[in-house]
Amino acid sequence: MNTEIKLIDIREIKNQIAAVKTDLILVVVDSNVWQHYGKLFISALPKDKQFILYKSLEGEGTKCFEEFERGIEFFLEKGIHRNAHLIAIGGGATSDYAGFIAASLLRGISWSVVPTTLLSMVDASIGGKTGLNSKHGKNLVGAFHMPAHVWIDKEFLNTLPENEIRSGMGEVMKYGFLDSHVKGLIENEAELSEIIKTCAEVKDKIVEEDFKEKGQRISLNLGHTFGHAIERIYDLTHGEAIFWGMALIFKLYQKDHDQYLKALRDFSTKLEVDYGDPPWLNKTFPVSKIMDYLEKDKKKASVGAIKIIKLKEFGEFEAVEMQTSEIHKTLEDRKDELRTFTF
Ligand code: NAD
Ligand code: ZN
Repeated sequence: MNTEIKLIDIREIKNQIAAVKTDLILVVVDSNVWQHYGKLFISALPKDKQFILYKSLEGEGTKCFEEFERGIEFFLEKGIHRNAHLIAIGGGATSDYAGFIAASLLRGISWSVVPTTLLSMVDASIGGKTGLNSKHGKNLVGAFHMPAHVWIDKEFLNTLPENEIRSGMGEVMKYGFLDSHVKGLIENEAELSEIIKTCAEVKDKIVEEDFKEKGQRISLNLGHTFGHAIERIYDLTHGEAIFWGMALIFKLYQKDHDQYLKALRDFSTKLEVDYGDPPWLNKTFPVSKIMDYLEKDKKKASVGAIKIIKLKEFGEFEAVEMQTSEIHKTLEDRKDELRTFTF
C-alpha cells in the first residue's frame, strides 16, 4: 500500500526520522514500553527536530474516550501544526489509539509506527485501522488512517512476555496458510525478522487488493470465526485462540484436513511455540457458547449468513457463506468427537 515497511535498528531510528519532512514529531509511547526503552529512545532521537513526548497508558487501557481526550488535549495545548508527524511506539493497543489521535488531530496528520509486540509487527500496525473501544464493544469507534512507515526492530521481543509471543505466532501461522512464501520461510526456519517482515508485507498487499475491491481482506479472518469465541470462552490470548480456531475450521470444513492440521503442528514446532492440548479437550464442547459469540459477530457484520474462511489449497483461501443454523448443527452433531479431538 502506501506504507513503507522496513526492518531497522532502533538505535538508528534518527536516520528514519531525519527523512520525514517535518520539523515537529509527536511521540506516543506505551508507558510500559517506555520503562524498558525510554533511555534508549531519547539517545536515538535526532537533535534537529522538535519532539513532544506523550506516554499513553499501558496496553488496552489506553483505547478509551477519556484517554483519547487526554492525548488530544495534551498535544493541542503544547501547540502543533498540520505538518507535524506522529510516531506510535508500542503494541497494537498503542498503534490503534495513537493512529486515531493522528487521524483526528487537525483533521488528520501523518504518522508512523514502531511496533513493539509480535502481534503488532505482523498485524496491528499494518492496514490503517485505528480506533478505540466503546462500552458497547471493542474497536467500535475509529478511522482508517494509513501510516506512512512501519519501522520494525525485533529486538523489542526480548522483553515481551512469553504469552504475547505465543499470541503473535498464531497470526504468523495464519499467514503461513495464506501465503506460500511465508510457509516456505517457516518451514526452512528462516530468520525471525525475515518472517516478520514478510508477514507484514503480505498483510499490506492483502489490504491494498481489498481497496481495489477484490475483497481479499476477509482472508485475514482465517481462524477468527471460532477463534473470537474461543478467545473469550477460555480467556486465551488472541493469537492462541486463532491457532485453535484454525484447527477447528480445518477439522470441520476441510475435506483433506489431515495435511492442514499436520502443517499447523509443524509450523508451531518450527516457530518453537507450544500451545499444549486444545482448551476444550475432555471437557464438554461448548456449542451454545460458541454459537452465542458467532451470532454477535454476525450482527456486527450485518449480514444474514456467516462467511467461513477455509483453504482451497496452501496459499489460496475461499470464503463460504453459511447459515448459523447450519454451523450449529455441525457442532452439535460432532461435539462428542470434538471433545476428544487433538492432533
Ligand atoms: P498490547 O498493545 O495490548 O500490548 C500487550 C502488552 O505488552 C502491554 O502490557 C504492553 O505494555 C506490553 N508490551 C508491548 N511491547 C512490549 C515490549 N517490547 N516488551 C515488554 N512489554 C511490551 O497488545 P498487542 O497484542 O500488540 O495488541 C492488541 C491490540 O491490537 C488490540 O487492542 C487489538 O484490537 C489491536 N489490533 C488491531 C489491529 C488493526 O488492524 N488495527 C489488528 C489486530 C489487533
Ligand atoms: Zn487476529
